[in-house]
Amino acid sequence: MFSFFHKRHNCFCAFCKTPRRIYRKKNISFMNLIASALASVVLMFAIWQQYDPRVMIVFVVCLAISEVFVKIRWRLSVVCRQCGFDPVLYLKQPEAAAQKVKEQLEARKQDPKYLLAKPLNLPAIPAEKAKALQDKGKGRLVSRSI
Ligand SMILES: [Zn+2]
Repeated sequence: MFSFFHKRHNCFCAFCKTPRRIYRKKNISFMNLIASALASVVLMFAIWQQYDPRVMIVFVVCLAISEVFVKIRWRLSVVCRQCGFDPVLYLKQPEAAAQKVKEQLEARKQDPKYLLAKPLNLPAIPAEKAKALQDKGKGRLVSRSI
């Protein structure tokens, strides 16, 4: 009911459980449509100083730009800033997602800014289970806290 004020939704990272916010909006809304229409009218007068049918092309381009903008913003907000976990990539290519998390955790270790930061609450895998997983050859583990 307060959807207008709560575009940014509180959630937790699926991997490190850090509370964070992601944009709920994945596609353009009616407001973006109005904004695109206004922008194209303004552009029309700026370019041709009068009504011009080419305004329709400008309008479509404006819509496309706002759609791409909203998509990119949502896509970027989905990735965890702390551990680099990307749920969208994980669904498509779990290995690529694991690689990204590994790189992010590696970068975190090098970055002095994170020296005093609270350690991430990474999923813990008991030693035996980790060994069993590695014996099975199901790929290397990204993190092992125990
Ligand atoms: Zn995370």
